[in-house]
Amino acid sequence: MSAHKIIIAIDGYSSCGKSTLAKQCAKRLGYTYVDSGAMYRAITLYFIRHTIDISNHDHILDALASIHLSFVVNESSGISEIHLNDENVEHLIREMLVADKVSEVAAIREVRSFAVAQQKKMGRKKAIVMDGRDIGTVVFPEAELKIFMTADADIRVMRRFEELYLTNPHISIDEVRHNLELRDHIDANREESPLRQADDAIVLDNSSLTREEQLEIVLEWIKDRATDRVAAN
Ligand code: C5P
Repeated sequence: MSAHKIIIAIDGYSSCGKSTLAKQCAKRLGYTYVDSGAMYRAITLYFIRHTIDISNHDHILDALASIHLSFVVNESSGISEIHLNDENVEHLIREMLVADKVSEVAAIREVRSFAVAQQKKMGRKKAIVMDGRDIGTVVFPEAELKIFMTADADIRVMRRFEELYLTNPHISIDEVRHNLELRDHIDANREESPLRQADDAIVLDNSSLTREEQLEIVLEWIKDRATDRVAAN
């Protein structure tokens, strides 16, 4: 038996810990990790900076034609960070200004086609873990392992609050809760590739799991799918 390279698709609501799990898996397997949400956030940052009118189709297309996204590995952390037209915007895109607008921008058909085309290319060689909202349904419907993550709403709010508080001590729990609820609502109800669980996805509720426990569970699932079984003949 030998391990072969697979695609791992992780979807779910905001702040379920998708990126934490995806990074853990990528590190353990030596796979590439792609944060698809960072792409929508970087596009949103560009739209904010250039005051793009999102009701104007031509403005959107012009803006997208001026956007170049790339992931560059940070040498000290080993994690890839997103660059918008060669500027590292990994931290800027986490700010509330972007979080408040991103779901509106991500619901635009042209924006999705632009991001999805790049995401599909990244998966050509497999050995990739990508997290987002439509990875198992639209980007990689052929992924060998699809995980749909959930967690208790209050736990998700507190996790995101603690994360944001580190860089913004003025943030309130209510503000974070409102943003998560709003994004989840838009993401799950939009016309273009709404957030939903793929039929063949496995649900992982990590409300009461430690990071180590969730990784152990998922490594078992990976083992089942990444091992070539030599058929008896
Ligand atoms: O994953 P993250 O919370 O950073 O994603 C930010 C937003 O980007 C989501 O709320 C959603 O609107 C959008 N998104 C998406 N499809 C993806 C990943 C993210 O629509 N595959």
